[in-house]
Amino acid sequence: MSPVADTDVLIVGAGPVGLFLANECARRGMRWRLIEKRAYQSEHSKALAIFPRTLEIFDMAGIAGRFLEVANRVTTVAVESHAHRLSTMQFTPRDTPYPFVAMVPQDVTERLLCEALRARGGQIDYQTSFLSMELQDECALVKMDHAGSAETVRASFVVGCDGAHSAVRHAVNIGFEGGEYAAIYLLADVSTNDALSATEMQLCPSESGPVAIFPMGATRRRIVGTIEETVGDAPTLELVRSVLAQRGPAKLEVHALNWSSYFRVHHRHAAALRIGRAFLAGDAAHIHSPFGGQGMNTGLHDVWNLVWKLDLTLRGHAHTRLLDSYSAERLPVIKSVIGMTDLLTRVMGTPSKLAQALRNAAIPMVSHIAPFQHAFIERLSELGISYGGSPIVEGDGRRYFDETMRGGSGIRSRFLLFIGRDAEPNTRDAAAALCSELSDVAELREGTDEGITLVRPDGYVAHAVRAAYTTRALESVRSLIELQTKSATIPT
Ligand SMILES: Cc1cc2nc3c(=O)[nH]c(=O)nc-3n(C[C@H](O)[C@H](O)[C@H](O)COP(=O)(O)OP(=O)(O)OC[C@H]3O[C@@H](n4cnc5c(N)ncnc54)[C@H](O)[C@@H]3O)c2cc1C
Repeated sequence: MSPVADTDVLIVGAGPVGLFLANECARRGMRWRLIEKRAYQSEHSKALAIFPRTLEIFDMAGIAGRFLEVANRVTTVAVESHAHRLSTMQFTPRDTPYPFVAMVPQDVTERLLCEALRARGGQIDYQTSFLSMELQDECALVKMDHAGSAETVRASFVVGCDGAHSAVRHAVNIGFEGGEYAAIYLLADVSTNDALSATEMQLCPSESGPVAIFPMGATRRRIVGTIEETVGDAPTLELVRSVLAQRGPAKLEVHALNWSSYFRVHHRHAAALRIGRAFLAGDAAHIHSPFGGQGMNTGLHDVWNLVWKLDLTLRGHAHTRLLDSYSAERLPVIKSVIGMTDLLTRVMGTPSKLAQALRNAAIPMVSHIAPFQHAFIERLSELGISYGGSPIVEGDGRRYFDETMRGGSGIRSRFLLFIGRDAEPNTRDAAAALCSELSDVAELREGTDEGITLVRPDGYVAHAVRAAYTTRALESVRSLIELQTKSATIPT
């Protein structure tokens, strides 16, 4: 029998999602362990785009600075078909300190997350594979292989961040619903001339399939496109050049190939994100088309939604409905991301001549309409994600972000009760008394909005009352906090 070690949160997989979850556990002083079956981090640049809401989340987590230093900032999205420009849209969302897409290759993202983790005293257990798991009333018993030796861990919670083929998902028998696109995808990191702006990305629809060009710098670009058949093990420089000559912007010249790969794309999501003490996040929970660049971002948002719920539960301040809300809140977002990227993929790659003509005529007209631009930016930037309809939210559950929440120490696992500057002294006193009584789970802050706004530890509004400074408004705040933080046992 191998010895049994204990931890509170066992994180399986040190991709970007597992690394971010480990960082967030470390920031809260939680007991956690991160295992990774590889001997070292992946060196591939896969996911590139980090969207504004993810940058706000990184800001609240205290790690945005290094990402901003290394990122190439994109502020324009152009649509071109056969060197004919159909549209140029500004990607500059308002009301955020991050009005751009930060282009950071995934290997750099993983390196920065590893550095941040080590700075917080954390470490990654490489060459350690999750093998199987038994869910019990009080814990999950996990069998692992550590460089050829068997090990058993007793964990309060297990989070499978172990990618599309997730062993954790298989262990709890959760289905992965969806399908596979017929197309084969080509991905290439290339050195180019500087004829195109480093701040603009191009989407190029065509009858041969779509191509997307993401700038990683003035003369380095990521090319993603569909092809009919593979030639060799990985795309060659010649193949990339011929795809761009046929479907790309006229002025772009490719000088060298840095890395390339073929891949197939699925659109799938887990039927549930939680069984008892086991959770799924990131590619283990959802995979979709790379058009839209949402894959990694959505995974990072998963664990941002989950970690404060785990923390409150482990500290004995949570009702089971708080953990239940993870699936209830994230599954609709995941389904919506899959729907959006699916639509984008189909519209960009339709083989029908009629549909192509309609698309090419519609894009220049529609893209100039302000509400369309606003909706497009809200979706892509992920600033429009909200949790209205969640069983633990009253109202629209929109995002909330202010100066006091920034920098890594502004928000952890407590609710923030923002009181407008116009509040009467007696309301202020009652709010202070409430937060003092519930000090383990709530704190009082001065707000810029009028009225009372209860903000969750992940920066989404749980409840807002605009003008009525009544005892009743504060009582509904109390009820909502207690609804999720009064403890009850966790069913397996
Ligand atoms: C070729 C390619 C191109 C892509 N391009 C884009 C893009 O342009 N934009 C975008 O947003 N996304 C893109 N993606 C998707 C993006 O890379 C993923 O969304 C992202 O990596 C998900 O992160 P993750 O941490 O959930 O999973 P992963 O990055 O897959 O990490 C999972 C980790 O778990 C480890 N693991 C697996 N099984 C076990 C086990 N049993 N025990 C221990 N460890 C285990 C793995 O070794 C791995 O390190 C691309 C993916 C690929 C493959």
